Amino acid sequence: MTYITFHGGVNDIGGNKFLVKDKDTTIFMDFGMSFSHEGKFFSQFLNARASNSLIDLFELGILPKIKGLYRRDFAKHMGFGGDEETQVDGILLTHAHVDHCAYIPYLRADIPIFCSEESKLIMQNFDDTGNDQYLTLKEKFQVYQNSKGEISRATGDKVLAPRIIKIFQSNKEFSIDSIKVEPLPVDHSIAGVHAFILHTSEGSIGNTADLRFHGRRSKDTEKFVDRCGESSLDYLLCEGTRVDALPSLTEYDVETNVSEIVNNTKGLAICGYPIRDLDRLLSFYESAKQTNRDLVIDMKQAYLLKLFYESENLRGHYPSPTDKNIKIYIPRGSWGLIDKDLDKFSRRQLYMDYAEWQREFLDYPNAIDYRGIKANQKDFIFFCSDFRLQDLIDIKPDEGATYIRSLTEPFDTEMELKEEQVKNWFTHFGILKKEQNWHQIHVSGHGDGTQIKKVIEGSNSKKLVPIHTQHDEYHKKWHTNVISVNQHESVSL
Ligand SMILES: [Zn+2]
Repeated sequence: MTYITFHGGVNDIGGNKFLVKDKDTTIFMDFGMSFSHEGKFFSQFLNARASNSLIDLFELGILPKIKGLYRRDFAKHMGFGGDEETQVDGILLTHAHVDHCAYIPYLRADIPIFCSEESKLIMQNFDDTGNDQYLTLKEKFQVYQNSKGEISRATGDKVLAPRIIKIFQSNKEFSIDSIKVEPLPVDHSIAGVHAFILHTSEGSIGNTADLRFHGRRSKDTEKFVDRCGESSLDYLLCEGTRVDALPSLTEYDVETNVSEIVNNTKGLAICGYPIRDLDRLLSFYESAKQTNRDLVIDMKQAYLLKLFYESENLRGHYPSPTDKNIKIYIPRGSWGLIDKDLDKFSRRQLYMDYAEWQREFLDYPNAIDYRGIKANQKDFIFFCSDFRLQDLIDIKPDEGATYIRSLTEPFDTEMELKEEQVKNWFTHFGILKKEQNWHQIHVSGHGDGTQIKKVIEGSNSKKLVPIHTQHDEYHKKWHTNVISVNQHESVSL
């Protein structure tokens, strides 16, 4: 018997974790975090305990309780086995958004992750510029005998366990034991997103991942739908994040509208957009070129562009980090030595102000700090994330500055509070007058109702399971055989 168990990603936007079992083969499609499920129990200052994380997350139904799935160091330390062989043959990752991938660091290193090269590089960006463990585990709860013969705790990076990462090529079928996988690129708001068609011993399953038709790669989504139509699917797992929404702008409209606003801006143009959405970065980059400005990006984006530039397959898809229309913003480091007397502190100490991955950017010809921006404000579109608003204190935007917000609108009270805070900053600097709003220019990574209807009709699947949505009533309107499932329930082929 072949079946799919939905350990997340149903009646919910995100948290996709779909177990597919076919003969002796077991795989997961995605292993993501559900914001709503985590938010029910946890917040910034209330988290799963590091010493007991698996058990805490099992208790609350956030992670599925499956032996052999989780990293051995955690499983052993937390009394959940760890010595057994794993029954899971791989994780098939649609894309590197956290609601699809954030729990990968909990998984055992010997379970291969099948993903696109873009997804791998985005996960590497998380690891190298933050403290994540997507590609390499830093083993915890390990002890060793020190030179005095005492038991000591192994800390930090002492015990590294690299994960098995298997990069697939778009449109090139491969097998995970009895399951044949077709990875098909689709258009969404991060690079390297793939939908899948799985051919199992009992039939075929499509998984849309997250998709839309209004970005830069609408043709990819069209080809995926056509391929579903040719594949006599038994099941389509179809996303429906925005099934209740009406058609809106396209990614190209974002570029045009941003250019128009920047053209009418006398001073600094400040913008906020999702930090890892390189398609959105591209929209601002193109707008910068059209308005004779440079786009100033932060170091994490520079690092991601560097990783893409270093890849033979991906070079040229996005601007290089040293592109002539790009500047890399060097913020104040830990001691803020950037504008201090280096005869007293030394250049070496300036480097010490930054994490290792950041240091090389100090020497890039296109590095810039607040002084360069402050002096020539009309020459730049300055990326300023919601978490780096303090940089505005150094830059001191002149009169005539503007702010373009290119992020999703708040959909819960926490986000509303955050937005209020962001608004206070821009009001403080006189960029927003009282009761005035910023320019909100954003398009979603998800298709609206008409687009999802097109996917459902074009795929011609026998059965349909709504995923990544809280509105299955639309799927039911557009398909006669919709099976709505709850978390941890299964359907069989
Ligand atoms: Zn996504």
